Amino acid sequence: MYPRSFEYLAATSLDEALAALADNPDAKVMTGGMSLIPLMKLRLFSPSLVVDIGRVPGLDAIDDAGDHLAIGALVRHATTASSEAVQSGAAALAQAAALTGDVQVRNRGTTCGALAHADIAADQTAAALALGATMVARSSSGERTIAADDFFVDTLTSALQPDEILVEVRVPKTGAGSGSAYGKLGRRGGQSDYAVAGAAAVVTMDGGSVAAARVALTGVGTKPSLAAGVAEALVGTDGSEAAVAAAAARATEGVTVLEDLYGSEEYKAHLAQVYAGRAVTAAMAAAS
Ligand SMILES: Cc1cc2nc3c(=O)[nH]c(=O)nc-3n(C[C@H](O)[C@H](O)[C@H](O)COP(=O)(O)OP(=O)(O)OC[C@H]3O[C@@H](n4cnc5c(N)ncnc54)[C@H](O)[C@@H]3O)c2cc1C
Repeated sequence: MYPRSFEYLAATSLDEALAALADNPDAKVMTGGMSLIPLMKLRLFSPSLVVDIGRVPGLDAIDDAGDHLAIGALVRHATTASSEAVQSGAAALAQAAALTGDVQVRNRGTTCGALAHADIAADQTAAALALGATMVARSSSGERTIAADDFFVDTLTSALQPDEILVEVRVPKTGAGSGSAYGKLGRRGGQSDYAVAGAAAVVTMDGGSVAAARVALTGVGTKPSLAAGVAEALVGTDGSEAAVAAAAARATEGVTVLEDLYGSEEYKAHLAQVYAGRAVTAAMAAAS
């Protein structure tokens, strides 16, 4: 299907893009176009103006800012996946980016675009949530930061306002004794497709016991969710197989699991437990 007719602006500066968004409340930002264009063709989105920021300079870097990595709006999935800084400081995000779509999607789509898009079954959303990332949103009236915990609101809905651009995501680096990991079951049975269910985990070990943990799920509800029960059950244990299994059993505690075309509630809850357990195990291995 063809999209409804729309105006197109190839912005050459952030200020130009932000001014266009301020003047056109139903405009949409485009970075990679990997999700925006399909949804426009399906007429689920019909913006009167597409503001393409793909040519705006200065947004395509991953900067090591000491305690966190700053990933710019135009950093592609492939770059996030192959970045040594992300692989060592935020492995769950690198792994999630590597499992995002196929090679064409990874070479066009952006990490910030995937976060802003907030698909219920996206990969990097769960990693960003588990890692405790912070989103940096800019509009023509200023800049604000939004914690990942508050960023994912609902299906295809983030906390961004229509006139805001996600210019950067700041991802805390896992330090000594900490590790992170992400894994999923893809919709076609493989890895390189949206998640039927998946989980990201960040674990900190101290003297042979789990000192801290954060686990996030994707694909099971209307947005990525923290699996607080897993973290609660895990902290203070020795991280043994039995402890991980007992913690993973609480994966969907407090999470609204929804059936969709790819699985029943029961199946998704089961997968959430399986992938939460695997992510925790891999994160603990990385921590040590
Ligand atoms: C065949 C195919 C397979 C895919 N498989 C997967 C998969 O396995 N896992 C997965 O997670 N995703 C998958 N995707 C989605 C893909 O990751 C997209 O690249 C991503 O969701 C959006 O990134 P983008 O840069 O292309 O954003 P766009 O398509 O340009 O934009 C998507 C939405 O986000 C908004 N937006 C984008 N960037 C910004 C910004 N900086 N500030 C404010 N708003 C912004 C846009 O306005 C739009 O509403 C797949 C897509 C396709 C086409």
